[in-house]
Amino acid sequence: MKKKKIYVLATGGTIAGRADSDTATTGYQAGAIGIDALLAAVPEIHNIAEIAGAQLASIDSKDMTESIQLQLVKRCNELLAFEQADGIVITHGTDTMEETAYLLSLLTCTDKPIVLTGSMRPATALSADGPLNLLDAVRVAASDKAHDMGVMVVLNNQIDGAHDVTKSHTMAVHTFQSPNCGSLGCVNDGVVKFHCQPLYTHLPNSLSLSENLTVLPPVVVLYGYAGDDGKLAVAAVDAGVKGIIYAGMGNGSIPAPVEHELARAVQAGIIVVRSSRSYAGCVTEAEVSYTQAGILRSGSLNPAKARILLQLALAEKKDAAGIQAMFDRY
Ligand code: ASP
Repeated sequence: MKKKKIYVLATGGTIAGRADSDTATTGYQAGAIGIDALLAAVPEIHNIAEIAGAQLASIDSKDMTESIQLQLVKRCNELLAFEQADGIVITHGTDTMEETAYLLSLLTCTDKPIVLTGSMRPATALSADGPLNLLDAVRVAASDKAHDMGVMVVLNNQIDGAHDVTKSHTMAVHTFQSPNCGSLGCVNDGVVKFHCQPLYTHLPNSLSLSENLTVLPPVVVLYGYAGDDGKLAVAAVDAGVKGIIYAGMGNGSIPAPVEHELARAVQAGIIVVRSSRSYAGCVTEAEVSYTQAGILRSGSLNPAKARILLQLALAEKKDAAGIQAMFDRY
């Protein structure tokens, strides 16, 4: 059988990390190893697929930028549209992997698999997890079963969907979890198995945003806490943001002084969305005053992903009702 063409785009991260000692799992340099060395560590991938690759960035993903993320979107769309690839694997740091995965899921126009992978231990560590993660990611990207499953994250033998996956642990190799719905599937001993399909609108859903988008509207996340007096909400408005995600308590609850300032922000034309600092669940309609103030809700999107959707909604020039409809759909 003809092998599938899988394109690997490398962006850095711990999977490409180098430490001074093989027992060091922190304090290493992320993104120090290039794509050729990453691929050379897993010669088996050439048995699975025809592999090509490119180095798109060499960064710790804490330094991921919108510009690199939008280049990734463009590159994926080009590679998949022109039949240069049957699937794409992106190596990426784990810190912001969920954000890049979610952005890709909204802006790439394909039903072919796009799989992000990375690792929690640097390439130089004893028991480095990167090589197997990369191998599994290529297996998923080359699998017929991955057709129309959206953008996925593959680490630690687990396949998670872009909408729900989140980094749940600072150090553990099983860090990626999907708290609301569980993982989509697994890869064990080389066998790709899916248990379920993502239900939120996913590929090929594509928002009709320009291919040439290079910057997104400024949106900030404010983290709620007991005693928040709303001064940071005022500072955000003064800084000229177009949108605010408030990571509230529980079901997106907002302390009264902050609610007052956020209501004023809405009056000033800023879109405000309640999300939650809680790990799982949905933010639904709660206090009547939130709705009366025109504050929207994020559904099950965590604050970091809610920020991305709001940026795209603002780039699409949606009004508040249109933006809430996007949060309900995506
Ligand atoms: N700080 C690293 C990064 O996100 C962590 C990792 O890749 O696991 O690039």
